[in-house]
Amino acid sequence: MRRRNFLYGGLGALASCSQTEESPQSTGSLEQVKWRMGTSWPPNFPGHGTSANRLAQRLEELSGGRIEVSVFAAGELVPALEILDVVSRGQIELGHSAPIYWRGQIPAAQLFGSVPFGMLPNEFNSWLYFGGGLELWQEAYSPLGVIPFPAGNTGSQMGGWFNREINSAEDLNGLKMRIPGLGGEVMRRAGVLPVSIPVGEIYTALQTGTIDATEWVGPYNDMAAGLHEAAEYYYYPGWQEPSGALECLVSMEAYNSLSEELKVIVRTACIAENDYILSEFNARNQRALKTLIEEHGVQLRRFPDDVLEVLRGFSAEVLENLAAEDPMSSKVYESYKAFATEIGSWLRITEGLITNIRGTP
Ligand code: CA
Repeated sequence: MRRRNFLYGGLGALASCSQTEESPQSTGSLEQVKWRMGTSWPPNFPGHGTSANRLAQRLEELSGGRIEVSVFAAGELVPALEILDVVSRGQIELGHSAPIYWRGQIPAAQLFGSVPFGMLPNEFNSWLYFGGGLELWQEAYSPLGVIPFPAGNTGSQMGGWFNREINSAEDLNGLKMRIPGLGGEVMRRAGVLPVSIPVGEIYTALQTGTIDATEWVGPYNDMAAGLHEAAEYYYYPGWQEPSGALECLVSMEAYNSLSEELKVIVRTACIAENDYILSEFNARNQRALKTLIEEHGVQLRRFPDDVLEVLRGFSAEVLENLAAEDPMSSKVYESYKAFATEIGSWLRITEGLITNIRGTP
């Protein structure tokens, strides 16, 4: 895996750099490709960015070097929130991003990113692989000529950083908060002014008071972004993102040009990374939370039950509205809701219960 530094103007010139070779059997499918991966993350950003690098490395290793991938951080080749459009236009072959960013292009994408009060990561993965979720995800993106593959999950997130305590739902009124996606819509109904800004700008916005609060991911990422230096109170649970999916976007044209063996390698590398990073986040989040509290004096706070109840009510409204406005979202939401109900009843008598009663081994 090689990283190269290009500025924005590089796209046109790069188009001619992509080299491919057909297989000797002349099947028309490609046995050797050099692909570019644009990401929505700062360079080598812990978690998201390092996962993109690892996915690129896996693709090279599994293919014995037949798939070469150059990874570009946000802004090096493509701005953070334009990855989908650029992969869609076929200007680069791969993207590493998150579905929550694409509400403008694909409203249903939000349901594959993070659903407020929705399924947890392993429930979500069960839905994707065994409940028809992945087929729906790919169907939703197909008009853009992009194939999404699940390629990571942040695990359950934190509720976010606040520069004042939230003791009642009224305390949310008038708050300016960085919270994208469906969670932002829920907060809007609770009187918050939600804003969506890339990770690179959150710290400054919070520190200068442009925003009063922000959610980002969890302790591991949030500490790396320095958010504990800009706000005192760290709230849980992350009701807005019980599961935070990351995706590998593949240009449909580029994917379809591959030999069957290389297609299997692309799919398998994504499944591997989807699983691996979740383990990483869970392990590192707990350690980082301890450091935040013990070494940085962060004040950990739980959202009061009545605040969560208000947000849960607004969440149901936001999801029903999305389903009513967009046929694809309706189809996805019906499938999501049915599976969540089904698997929830299983997990409540297994993992949920055991986690609560096991104590400390
Ligand atoms: Ca988040």
